Parts: sequence; structure tokens; C-alpha cells
Amino acid sequence: MQGTDEKIGTLPVARTVAQLRHAVAEWRRAGEVIALVPTMGALHRGHLALLAQAKGVADRVMTSIFVNPTQFGPNEDFSRYPRDLAGDAAKLAGASCDLLYAPDAAEMYPAGFATTVSAGPLADPLDGRFRPGHFAGVATVVTKLLLQARADIACFGEKDYQQLQIIRRVARDLDIETRIEPVPTVREEDGLALSSRNAYLSPEERRIAPSLQRTLAAVVERVAAGVPPQEAAAWGAEELLRAGFVKLDYLEICDAETLLPLAAKDRPGRVLAAAWLGKTRLIDNLALAPRSTV
Ligand code: AMP
Repeated sequence: MQGTDEKIGTLPVARTVAQLRHAVAEWRRAGEVIALVPTMGALHRGHLALLAQAKGVADRVMTSIFVNPTQFGPNEDFSRYPRDLAGDAAKLAGASCDLLYAPDAAEMYPAGFATTVSAGPLADPLDGRFRPGHFAGVATVVTKLLLQARADIACFGEKDYQQLQIIRRVARDLDIETRIEPVPTVREEDGLALSSRNAYLSPEERRIAPSLQRTLAAVVERVAAGVPPQEAAAWGAEELLRAGFVKLDYLEICDAETLLPLAAKDRPGRVLAAAWLGKTRLIDNLALAPRSTV
């Protein structure tokens, strides 16, 4: 099995599963704890927070960059998704990442590739209704990355909350030993969740964008003040349109674990939304405060 000699700047790069496993095996032999941070690149401070959290719990951290074609719908932004491998590598080197794993599509999906991971009922609501096939693509590629790297820990952002819940479920169900670590959402000063897709926003859209987080926070406050979740969610949906979002896919209050509509007061809740500014689709979510059961 071949190791990797390639570097971008100072950062070692693995392009193949064999190279990745060679690097990981060496760390294992040295008894080191290993973490993986899967990404699609165009790295920002949100990704770097995952890396920092990974560094805090592991001796070695690798970051994968793979813009996974199978999780984009035919009319989605796969071809225009931002790509900047050299810039990303510089950021990773600056954040003391030990290895960049950057496979190409042929390495991930060689000729004859046929198996997919179905994400189960967690993939049905919310984004699942608006992005058919998206979570099967995510579940499949993340399963592959986890099995390729066999890290002790893998970090995922709460920014993509439904994705995080699905990955936890898949890892449990398929006996993948890697521990899944959630990382809180990193935001701009005005509250906008960092996202590679924020780069698409025009100045006017960028001005409106923080109202997504502000509205979710106001929905959380309303529920805490005793407004029924359904009513608070309906108010939030109208508020987003008033704020200038052109279209709302959903704003829902869900059980934080099952993602089903929130039923009992003693269950943890989460408010999640997806809304459009021009051609850009933004998602965000916040935890509900624990509610009194009396
Ligand atoms: P992506 O490159 O968008 O696929 O994201 C890679 C990982 O970074 C996922 O686990 C995301 O949830 C996470 N992530 C993206 N944006 C943020 C953010 N603003 N804060 C925290 N994690 C994030």
C-alpha cells in the first residue's frame, strides 16, 4: 500500500483510499487518537470550528474535501458550488490539520458502483421533502468516508441539523465505531450562519439574510413564553416573507431527535427553516428552550 508524497503548500494530501489508510495506519501504530472532519470545501470559520473541536479531542485530524455529486439534485448548484482547493489547503495548514483527503469522483464512485445507504424516516421530513435523494447521497458518501478513514471521532455541524441526526442514526444502525461529535453553529456577528453558499448572496440579499436567524430566535422566545408551537411556527413563516425572503420551503418546530412534529412538552424541540433569497437557499435551526411540563 502506497503512502502519499503529495503536498499542497505544507499540507500532506491523500487522493486515494489506499493513501488515506496508509497515513491512518501509521498514526494508529503510534497509538494516536484520530479525528475526521468531512467537508465539501470552500472552507470558512464554521469548518474551522469543527477542526478546532476535533483537535481538542484527537492527536491527529484529517479533513476531507469532496463535492459529492450524488447529494445534489439535477437543478441544484453542483456545477457552480464554490471550489478553492489551494485556498482551503492554506486554511487547513494554518489550523494544524494533519492531512487533507481530496478524492476525485472516480475514486469515490468507481465504475460499477451500485450500493446506496437509505437514510430511513429521518430523511423524509423538512429538507427531505424539498431535496429528493439528497440525504441518500449524504448518507452514502458519509458512510463511505467513515469506513475509509476509520477515525475514532468525526465532527459534524449543527448547522445541518437534519444531516447530523441522520448521520448519528446511520452510524448506530450500521455499527460504525466512529463517534459522531456535534459542533454548534458558527455565525457572523449579525447572526447569519456561516455557509459556503453565502458567497452567492448579492449585497441586498446579504442584508436580508440575518433575519432568518432573528426570526428563528423570535419563534424560540414565543414558544418559551407559552405560544403553542404550531402558532409560533406560522408566525415565523409569515415573518420571513415580510423580511424579504422570496420563498419559504419550511419553518417547522420538530422533536429534536425524531424530527417529527413536536408533541409532548417534555421532549426536546428544535425549530428549523429553509428559505430562498433569489437563487440561494439558506437553512438554519435553533434549539427550543426546555419547556415547563406543569
Ligand atoms: P459542508 O462543507 O457545507 O458540507 O459542511 C461540512 C461540515 O461543516 C458539516 O458538518 C456542516 O454541518 C459543517 N458546517 C457548515 N457550516 C457550519 C457553521 N456555520 N457552523 C458549524 N458547522 C458548520
